[in-house]
Amino acid sequence: MGLSDPPVPRPVILISGCLLGLRCTWRGQAAGAWSQRFQSLIRAAREGGPVFIPACPEQLGGLPTPRPPAELMTSASRVLDGNGLVLNGKGEDVTAAYRRGAAEAVHLARVAGARLAVLKERSPSCGARAVHAGLFNGALAGGRGVAAEALHREGFIVLDEEEFLRLWRATPNWSGLDNPLPFLS
Ligand code: SF4
Repeated sequence: MGLSDPPVPRPVILISGCLLGLRCTWRGQAAGAWSQRFQSLIRAAREGGPVFIPACPEQLGGLPTPRPPAELMTSASRVLDGNGLVLNGKGEDVTAAYRRGAAEAVHLARVAGARLAVLKERSPSCGARAVHAGLFNGALAGGRGVAAEALHREGFIVLDEEEFLRLWRATPNWSGLDNPLPFLS
C-alpha cells in the first residue's frame, strides 16, 4: 500500500466475550480452550486485522456473574416474540434479561459497524446452531440462542466459533492489510 492509497477498512466483528478470554460465563470463567485458540486472532487484530468487539449478552441483559446456568424452554424466536421462556437452574424466569441482552447485542453490533457476529456455541444467548435442550442434563437441541437469533433477524452474519476458525484458517496469506474474510467484502 502506498502513502496515497486509501486505508483498507478493517472488518468489525462482534464476538462472544468469553471467546476472547473475558470471564463472563455463568461460572465466572472464560470459554476455556476456545479462548486459547483465539489468541492468534487477538494478535492479528493488534497487527491491523479485524476489530473484535467483545460482548456478553447475558451481562448486557443485567444478569450477574457468576450466575445460575439457564436454558431455553422454548425456541429463541418465541422468546423474542414475547411468548417464550428462559429458566435458570433455580427455576427462576430470566426471560426478560435474555431479551434485553439480545437487544443490547444488536445495538452494539450496529453502533460498532459489525456485519458478522462470532458467537459461542450451545449458549442460550449465543448458540449459533445448537443450544441446551431445556432439560439441564447436558442434552442439546438444534436452534439459536436468543442473542444469536436477534442478530440473525437483523441481517447480521452469525457464525459459531468452529465455523469462524475454519474460515479464518482457510484464508491464505493473511497480511493484516487485506480483508481476510471474503464473505465480509
Ligand atoms: S452469554 Fe455468550 S458471551 Fe456471555 S458467557 Fe455466555 S456464551 Fe459467553
